[in-house]
Order: sequence, then C-alpha cells, then structure tokens
Amino acid sequence: MFRDGVRCVVVVGVQWGDEGKGKVVDALAERAALVVRYQGGANAGHTVDAPDGEFVLHQVPAGILHPGTRCVIGNGVVLDAETLFHEIDAIVARGVAVAGRLVVSDRAHLVLPFHKLLDAASPRSREIGTTSRGIGPAYEDKVGRRGVRVGDLRDAGLTDTLVRAGCERANAVLQQWGAPERCDPESVTAGLAQLAPRLLPFVADAGKVVWTALRDGENVLLEGAQGALLDVDHGTYPFVTSSNTTAGGAVVGAGIGPLSVHAVLGIVKAYTTRVGNGPLPSEAAPEEGDRLRSLGDEFGATTGRPRRCGWFDAVVVRYSARVNGLTDLAVTKLDILDSIDPIPVCTHYLLDGRRVDDIPDTVPELERVRPVYEQLPGWNRSTADARRVEDLPAAARRYIERIEALAGTRVRYVGVGTRREQLIEVP
Ligand code: GDP
Repeated sequence: MFRDGVRCVVVVGVQWGDEGKGKVVDALAERAALVVRYQGGANAGHTVDAPDGEFVLHQVPAGILHPGTRCVIGNGVVLDAETLFHEIDAIVARGVAVAGRLVVSDRAHLVLPFHKLLDAASPRSREIGTTSRGIGPAYEDKVGRRGVRVGDLRDAGLTDTLVRAGCERANAVLQQWGAPERCDPESVTAGLAQLAPRLLPFVADAGKVVWTALRDGENVLLEGAQGALLDVDHGTYPFVTSSNTTAGGAVVGAGIGPLSVHAVLGIVKAYTTRVGNGPLPSEAAPEEGDRLRSLGDEFGATTGRPRRCGWFDAVVVRYSARVNGLTDLAVTKLDILDSIDPIPVCTHYLLDGRRVDDIPDTVPELERVRPVYEQLPGWNRSTADARRVEDLPAAARRYIERIEALAGTRVRYVGVGTRREQLIEVP
C-alpha cells in the first residue's frame, strides 16, 4: 500500500468486524513507522499468526510485533489500563520489546470498573449483545462530559473527584436496575493510583506524535477495530458499537486532519460474519452456517462466542466502500471457501418486492429484505499454497474479480490462510 506518495493508510473493517484486520495490519506494519489504534477498546480482538506463534491483541496495535514500528493508542480509544498491562506483560514475556515503542494518548478515556458493572447489568447491553467490557458506558461518560481521561491521572485530586461522581452515578443506576453489585470509589481510586506510575510514562499528546511522523515523511497506518456496519452512525443502529469505526473516525481518533490520509484499505471476508444481535441479510441457512463456522473457525477472539455466518453481501460492501471512501480492498479467508461449490453471492436485495441496491436506514426494513443470490462456481482445491494471483485456480480468480466488480473497488490483497506469508499482493 505504501507507494507513490501514499504514506498514511487507514485500515478499516468492511463488514461487522473480525474480517482479519490484525493479519493485514501486521503484514503492512513491516513498512510502517507508526501504527495507530483510533477507536474501540478491549472489546476488539485482533489475531496475528506470527512465526513464533499466535498473538491475540486487544488494545496494543498489531504493529507491535515488528521491532522497527512504534505504536500509538489514540484519543478515540477507551482504554482499560489494567487489561492493557496484562496484554503488555504477555507480549513482553514472549520477547517483544514494548518500552519506548508505545504511546498512549493523554486524551483517551479510561474504562473503569463501574463501566463494566453497568455494561454487565444493563438490559440494553443484553439486547444489543455487547461484549460486557464496559466500552459503551465509557463512551457514554465521554460524551456526557464526565469521563476520566488518561491525562487526568497526573492529578490525583481531579481523578478522585471524577471517580467518586462516576461511582455514585453508576451505583444509583445499578440500584434502579435491581442489580446487587455496587462500586466502591476507594478501591477504584486505589487501583488507579497503583496503575498511574506505570501508565504515565507511555502518555503523551498522541496526535502530535502522529502529525510529526507524517511531517517527517514516515509511513503511518491507522488501524480500526470492528467494522463499518457496527459504526455508531453508519452501522445497523442500534445494533452497533459506541464509536465511529469508519475511516472518518480514523482522523478524529488519531488526532490529525482529514487531508493527511492518502488511502483507505477495506478488509473484507470472502463471506460474511456477525457477532451479537441485529440484522444479517445474507445469513446462511443453519446447516450451511454451521459448515462455514467450522471451516472458518468463526468464534470470537475476545469472547469465544460463535459468530453468525453467511455469504458475501455486495450491498454491504458497496455501502461500506461509499461511507469509508475505500480506495482498495483486501479479501481475507478465501481459503475457507475452497470446498464450497457453488458459492452464493448476494448481489442485491428485494424489499417488499422492489429491488434495493443500498442498505435501508432502519433495522425493521433491513430485517425484511430478501437477499438475491447469484451462484458462482467453486474451485474444489486448496488455495493455501498460492503466493501469487496466478497460483489461484481460475474459479477463485473469477470469484475475486466478481467481488471487485460488485464492490466497485480494486482488490489489492487476497488472504489464503492465517500465516503471514499467506497474503497475496495483487499487482
Ligand atoms: P480482526 O478483528 O479483523 O483482526 O479479525 P480476527 O483476528 O478476530 O479474526 C480473524 C481470524 O481470521 C484470525 O484468527 C486470523 O488468523 C484469521 N485469518 C485472517 N486472514 C485469514 C485468511 O486469509 N485465511 C484464514 N484461514 N484465516 C485468516
């Protein structure tokens, strides 16, 4: 991706997340000076199958596995400092150096114990099917202008005041819901006082770090979590996450201006999956869904929840290409379709008998659409060893070309397995 003056690339999930962003970011990070996470929190789980084993990263950007790359947790992220250090300890124990290579934005908001209690007890969170990591309540506090920011930890008095108010409010809500749990402000403050000396050395004005790298002509990757259809504005609201996962969120969440971005790479699975509740128009029939789930090992990296599985949905991908301004696509998990023949691809929907080429803006309408499929021939052989496009069976190449035509976006990478080398670059 980094070529001809393209130095700042946003990587976004095109569908409902879990598209394989971790693997693509890991591959591109080799040539990036900086990798920036711009939204979400510990609810994301990016899996990287590195030569020395699998790493599941929740908050640390996937670039950390390349020694020459620095990583930034941007202001758009909500940070769970305790789990961040569990993650850092686990990475360091496996020989990856983190000190001096990770910057945490002073403006990122903290996920605190009462956010998790609220998330776990909230009837609304259960309806949406959240990961109960406290992400939604932390973003609610951010927008409510009562959150605790990472930089606030420099001032123990301010932190204490904000934590007390947060606990009081959370305890009142928990009582109202009839939930037995309560949050003790003393223990939250004590926990933060213990974490602060460890966290603060990583803390800086992260936007300035990113801006400086770009000014100095370095390559920068902005790494999104989840996917476009989970974006709080553009996703299948209310069955969405609490942040802007789309490319617009990248500049806000990294703290740079929109004209800094040169390319937007969308990561799209060769089929479709979704975790949690909400519409999924191209969801496969139960038996076919089970087959895709077991072939693709579709279980959440964070929660272990089985993912709902379906076929490639061109309506979703065209929509995502539009709202993200995608310049390129990376198609992942093509190998999972190796034994499926024919392969259904949803080209458009019917809504009350009318053809629809765009995502309807309400969930009830999206739940009513009927996907219209074309059947593409399968290839019935392994693609795992393909390293160039020419190595792919002709039917697999035609499948990719059809995706490219339906999406109206150029396919630049094709994934044929979990390992680093199983990513084909399309010339
Ligand atoms: P992310 O959140 O978008 O990074 O996605 P996850 O890491 O949760 O899920 C992607 C899973 O798919 C991981 O286990 C990856 O190792 C795996 N994966 C990524 N690309 C490919 C691919 O091309 N083929 C196969 N078989 N697995 C892949």
